[in-house]
Amino acid sequence: MAETSSKGEYVVGVDLGGTKILAGVFKNSLECIGSSKLSTKSQRGVDAVVERIARCVQDAVDEADLNLKHVAGIGIGAPGAVDFAEGRVIFAPNMEGWKDVPLKKDLEKQLGVPVFVENDGNICALGVHVVELKAKPKSLIGIFVGTGIGGGLIINGDLYSGFNHTAGEIGHMVLDINGPKCGCGNKGCFEALASRTAIFQQIKAGVKDGEKTMLTEMLGDDLADLRSGDLRKAIRRGDKFVDKVIEGAAEYIGIGIANLVNILSPEVVVLGGGVIEALADEMMSVIVETAQDYAMPGTMKGVEIIASKLGDNAGITGGAVLARRETK
Ligand SMILES: [Zn+2]
Repeated sequence: MAETSSKGEYVVGVDLGGTKILAGVFKNSLECIGSSKLSTKSQRGVDAVVERIARCVQDAVDEADLNLKHVAGIGIGAPGAVDFAEGRVIFAPNMEGWKDVPLKKDLEKQLGVPVFVENDGNICALGVHVVELKAKPKSLIGIFVGTGIGGGLIINGDLYSGFNHTAGEIGHMVLDINGPKCGCGNKGCFEALASRTAIFQQIKAGVKDGEKTMLTEMLGDDLADLRSGDLRKAIRRGDKFVDKVIEGAAEYIGIGIANLVNILSPEVVVLGGGVIEALADEMMSVIVETAQDYAMPGTMKGVEIIASKLGDNAGITGGAVLARRETK
């Protein structure tokens, strides 16, 4: 069938992250038929990363036994502030040198296919809403806990981007004015308290202060190769220190949700990202209880708080949704 289609019938979703790039080829029905993964290597500079994104897209297309002329459009989620109309990444705090990068223009030149750039949290929320939840909830808040904390808002069935197209920066809600420094320059942001980066920092600081944890037996005293999955293993083996740190992060996520529910009253709050994927069993009940404790009486009634099942694929799925929407 692919050979006979001269016009693009497929769309590609790309998840650009600080450590890895994922690309997926999707049918118009949003079924993924081929994917590819490449490390980002942001230390090699912006041009090298743009080339790697192009290569990752080509690999995914090849994996699906197609070529670029079968592709109608490419939707990309980038980890930072984005000018959607221009397709520029204004600033990406976790990527070296990413300031005002014309990603749409550069990639269109290399691939010859229309490219659409959005914030990664928005893209993930869009993917979960349209594909996992079949676009049923009228309103949804997506919170994605990984290297940072990304967010996305669906209001009245559509992505809400606000006046400056910057809405949904949930990770930079300040939850503790005396809290630790954040990558954005502020203190006590949600992501400085509950992201993977924050959790790892708390664990490493605790170990320096003499806290006992089996993580040092598993990984050595410097905890150099620490991953979210190690935290799950430690908690399941009864590690009290790791359990306390994770409970603390889960409480902050619950407080963040309570604030958002008070303001927006969403139908569904969906959690995703690497930390939730690895630790949903350990964190979800604390998150839900804390959200219920801190929200105004009555505001949580009927609000669902769930963990996404899309896992790592939320970004590429949302990218495909965006590309399909923009090329229709
Ligand atoms: Zn911040």
